[in-house]
Amino acid sequence: MKIKMTLCCQILAAFFLTACSTPKMVNLDTVTVTENVADVPIYRNAYTRTSDIINTRLDLSFDWDSAYVKGRASILAKPYFYSTDRLNLNANGFRINNVSLVHNDDKKPLEYTYNGKILSIKLDKQYSRNENYTVFIDYIAMPYKLRVGEDITTDGDRGIYFINREGRERSKPRQIWTQGETECNSNWFPTINDPQEKMTQELNITVANEFVTLSNGTLEFSSLNGDGTRTDSWRQEQPHSTYLTMLAVGDFTITKDKWRDKEVSYYTEPAYASTAKLVFGNTPEMMEFFSGKLGVDYPWEKYSQIVVRDFVSGAMENTTATVFFEGLNMTEGQYLDENYEDIISHELFHHWFGDLVTAESWSNLPLNESFATYGEYLWDEYKYGRDAADLKGLEDLSAYLSNKDKRKVDVIRFDYADRDHMFDEISYQKGGRILHMLRKTVGDDAFFKALNLYLTRHAYKNAEIHDLRLVFEEVSGMDLNWFFNQWFLSSGHPVLNISTAYDTDNKEVKINIKQSQDLSVNPLYKIPLSVDIYQGTKAERKEIVLEKKDQTFTFPLAVSPDLVNVDAEKYILAEKQENKTLKEYAFQYQNAPLFMDRLEAVMKLLDMKDESLAKSIVIMALKDQSWFIRYSAMAVLEHLTEDERLAVLKQIKDMTLHDKVSQVRAAAVANLAKYYRAADNRDVFIQTVKDKSPAVIRASNSALK
Ligand SMILES: [Zn+2]
Repeated sequence: MKIKMTLCCQILAAFFLTACSTPKMVNLDTVTVTENVADVPIYRNAYTRTSDIINTRLDLSFDWDSAYVKGRASILAKPYFYSTDRLNLNANGFRINNVSLVHNDDKKPLEYTYNGKILSIKLDKQYSRNENYTVFIDYIAMPYKLRVGEDITTDGDRGIYFINREGRERSKPRQIWTQGETECNSNWFPTINDPQEKMTQELNITVANEFVTLSNGTLEFSSLNGDGTRTDSWRQEQPHSTYLTMLAVGDFTITKDKWRDKEVSYYTEPAYASTAKLVFGNTPEMMEFFSGKLGVDYPWEKYSQIVVRDFVSGAMENTTATVFFEGLNMTEGQYLDENYEDIISHELFHHWFGDLVTAESWSNLPLNESFATYGEYLWDEYKYGRDAADLKGLEDLSAYLSNKDKRKVDVIRFDYADRDHMFDEISYQKGGRILHMLRKTVGDDAFFKALNLYLTRHAYKNAEIHDLRLVFEEVSGMDLNWFFNQWFLSSGHPVLNISTAYDTDNKEVKINIKQSQDLSVNPLYKIPLSVDIYQGTKAERKEIVLEKKDQTFTFPLAVSPDLVNVDAEKYILAEKQENKTLKEYAFQYQNAPLFMDRLEAVMKLLDMKDESLAKSIVIMALKDQSWFIRYSAMAVLEHLTEDERLAVLKQIKDMTLHDKVSQVRAAAVANLAKYYRAADNRDVFIQTVKDKSPAVIRASNSALK
C-alpha cells in the first residue's frame, strides 16, 4: 500500500492519541485501582492457524440503493495441522442466510453460531489435515451499516465502497471498488483475516451490462444473463493472501499493453484513456527490469492497473490488479509536474515483496513496505541514474527524520497499539534506507542473490525478518545479527559529531567521530564508512568501521588535505554535525563526485549567506546537472545585493523558459517576480504563461497579476 500524505498524517495523529496514555484513577466503591494502559505489555503475535482455506469461489451481485453485497461463497478448506470439526471465519456485519456442507452436488445444512464478526461453523465430523471439505455460505454484506468506532476503526475500513451510488453527483462516475489491507475484506466476503492465509480464488461478478469489472487473475469468460446484466468470471490460479483479493466495477476504458507474453492493462475513466499509456506506459519496462534484477520473473498471470475515485489510500497492490487514487487521472500537462512513477514502481515491486512473499504478521510489515519503497529507488537508479535515485533516498531520509516521535519505535514492532500504525515512515522510508545500507554492506552481487534466494525459498508463502537475515547470511557468509539487531529490531538512528583535523607535527589526518544518540534507548551503532581524503582533485579512499561512542582514526599524510569527506558514499541513515569550513564546502561542491556531495555543500553554503565565496559557488550551482540543486540554489537570490542580482538576471530568465524540468521553470518564474521588478519582466511572463506545465502557468498567472 502507498499512503497519501494527508491520510498518513491522520494515521499519525491517531497514533499519538492512543499511544500517549497517562495513568488514570478510577474509583470502584471502596476499592481504588490504577489503570495504566501503557504498563500492559503488548505482544502482537502472528495468528495461530487452525484451518487453511485452499480456494474461495464467490458469486457476487450488488444492490446500489442499499449498498449491499449479495454473496454466495464456496470455501474449500482443511484443518491446518490439528484435527478439528470447526471452521471459524471472519465475516463482519453480515446477514447469514444459509450455511451448508457441499458434497458432490448436494448441500447439507450445518450448525453455526454468528456474533456479527465470527462465523463459527460446526462441520459434520472431525476432519484431519489430509481431508478437504467445502462449505457454502449464502450471505448479505452491508458495508455501510458498519459503525465507525464499533465495527470498524475508521471510515477507511469499510472494505468495499459504492461511489456515487445514487448517481446524484454529476461530476463523478458510479463505481464499486474494494480495499482489503489490513483486515477489511471480511466486510464483503467470509474469509480468514490473516496474512498467512493464502488461497486461490474465483470471483463471478454480476453487474449491469454497461459496467466493466476487474478482479485478480484472468477473465475466464463473460455471460449475458438476458436481464440486462452480465456475469464476469475471474480466476486466479496462484495462491495469495486474503487481504489481496479485489474487485472493481465501473465505466472504465481498458488500454492494453504487453510484457513478454503477458497482458498488461490500464483501466481508466474514458476521459483519461488518451493519457493512460503516457502515465502507465513504463510498466512493461519496469516489469522487465525488476524481473532481471531479482532473477525471478514477474510471477503472476497478468498485470492490471486501475484508477478509481475517492480511494482511501494512495494505491494498493492487490495481486495482478493494483488500484490507484484519482491523482493518476492526469492530463499531459499535469504529467510534466508529477509523473507518479514512484507509486507505480512501489506497487509493482510489491508483486514480489508483499504478494509473492508476504510478511507473516503486521509486525513484520516492513518486509512488504521497506522493499516496495526501495523498489522506487531501484527504478529511479536504473532509469534516471544515481543522482535521481539519491534524491529519492534523501526524500525518504527527510520523511523519517522530520517525525521526531516516530523515531522511538522499532522497525519490526511487536507492540503496536493498532495494526494500522505500522503504515508509517518507519516501515516505509526508514526501512527502505536500511535496505540500501544492507546492499552497501554486502555489495550488489550478494544483495540481489540474497533477494533471489528469499523470493524463491518463500514463494507463495510468508516470511518474518529472521528469514531475511538468514538468506543474507547464507549468501554472503557474513554474520549479520549486528546489522539486523541495530537497524530492524531497534529504534532511532545514529547522531554523529564528526570533526577532522590535520596534525602538522605528526603529519597525519585525524578524524574523530562521536555517537551522541541517547544510548539508554538507542543502540551504539556499528557503521562501516568510506572516507575520501583529497589532495588537489585526487581523492584517496579509506574504509573505516565506527563502533565506539568516541573513536579517532588517523591516516599519515605529508601535507594538509584540501578536504576530508567522511561518509563519502552519503547513504548512512544518521544526523550528522561536521566541522567543515567554507573553503572545504566550496571545494566539495567543485570536486566531490556525488549529487549528495554537491547538495550538502550548497545547503551549507546557503547558510553562510554573507560570504562572497559561498554566494559565488551557489550561483554556479544554478547550472548544476541536478534539477533539484538548480531549484534549491535559487534561494541565494535572497542574500544577493542589488548589483549581484542583476548579474544573474539573464540566467534566471533563461531558467523560466528553457530549464527542462517544470518545477525549476515554475520556481524561476516565482523568483523572477519576487526579486526583480515584475513590470520589467512582463514579456517573460507572457511567454511562460503559455508553458504546458500547470505549475509554470500558475506561477506565471500570479506574476502577471
Ligand atoms: Zn506499499
